[in-house]
Amino acid sequence: MALHIPTLLVVSLFIFCLMGLLSFHAWSRETREQPLAYLGGMMLLAAIGLLLNSLRNLGVDFVPLVLGNVLLLLSAALNWTAMRLFAGRAPSLPGILAGAVLWLGLCLVPAFYGTMATRVLVYSLLVVGYGMLTALEFWRSRHQLDVAYLPALTLTLLHTAFYIVRAATDGGLAFDNALSGTGQGMPFFSFMLFESMLYVIGIAYVTLAMVKERAELRFKAAAFSDALTGVGNRRAFMVHGEQMLAECAHREEPVALLLCDLDHFKRLNDAFGHQMGDQALVAFSQVSLENLRQQDVFARIGGEEFACLLMNTREPQAVQVAERIRQDFATLSMLEPGLLSVSIGVVTTQATGYDLSRLLSLADEALYGAKGQGRNRVQTLLAPELG
Ligand code: GH3
Ligand code: MG
Ligand code: MG
Repeated sequence: MALHIPTLLVVSLFIFCLMGLLSFHAWSRETREQPLAYLGGMMLLAAIGLLLNSLRNLGVDFVPLVLGNVLLLLSAALNWTAMRLFAGRAPSLPGILAGAVLWLGLCLVPAFYGTMATRVLVYSLLVVGYGMLTALEFWRSRHQLDVAYLPALTLTLLHTAFYIVRAATDGGLAFDNALSGTGQGMPFFSFMLFESMLYVIGIAYVTLAMVKERAELRFKAAAFSDALTGVGNRRAFMVHGEQMLAECAHREEPVALLLCDLDHFKRLNDAFGHQMGDQALVAFSQVSLENLRQQDVFARIGGEEFACLLMNTREPQAVQVAERIRQDFATLSMLEPGLLSVSIGVVTTQATGYDLSRLLSLADEALYGAKGQGRNRVQTLLAPELG
């Protein structure tokens, strides 16, 4: 199959420009995610680089050989930087400039500048270098990346493999051959343009998908967390609590629920200001988390109301944990002793079953009992309340 290189060049230019502008558009519209801006920059630089690169035999070899390739190498560096940013690291200016500076330096050596095969080899190896750096960014962050990054990694590796093959086999293509569509080097050059188009479209698509997925995860996390304390909110408690109860019911393990309500909180707000009230809420969350285990579910389910579900816990242990939370909160040094206190109602699935609504309503009764008996105490369900 004969591929007409000038046509491929024009199509490539249009695709690079289009995808570059679309990436900038995606960046500016909704997410302002920097990787998209770098990716847009990479594609527009590739378009200009390719354009300059094709201006051969016009008597200004400096433009295609030096400027064109410098822009293409900067473009490869921006591709690496886009993925580096996505993986959570800062851009590296020396890294971005390294390929271009090396190329400029080598172009000062006549033996290099005058030998096409050597230029093709070195250019391909530099692109391989940036490809490997890109793959390395994904690999180094594989445990922190919460989105599907394998398509982007696979595309990067395929792109890099292509340039490894090019470095090993391609001797370069004289521009006369390109224009006539004949001669040595033709198939590889047309392949290269083809591959670069596919790569640009593919990487733009998968990067946008990764950015979207991450944004979705962030929205989801925000919808499940309390903005003031950073712990789960009522929605998170209901969802994760139901899950835990279902698992524990299946394993026939007991679960305990602590329902905590800060005492005289309105009075505290009135006396010391809303800001101090907020600090007390944050402090209570910290005290509670320090006394809970990773597998327990803790959330702020109302204004000054918190709930904890303790996995595989019977009543005596649950009361111990509740007592520790109550004491730790009451002895915080942020306010004078006696001003901070919490009442806690305790129920367990052994007495009531695994229904979360029923557990909450019975814990509320126990809590009501604690308030009635003077507050700053832990109260379990009394036998008649179990009904
Ligand atoms: P009790 O001991 O009976 O529980 O009395 P209380 O004052 O704690 O209970 P009440 O339900 O009357 O008041 C709860 C107060 O909690 C009222 C509200 O202003 C305050 N509150 C709710 N959410 C927040 C918040 O996010 N920040 C602050 N600072 N206060 C809050
Ligand atoms: Mg309350
Ligand atoms: Mg209260």
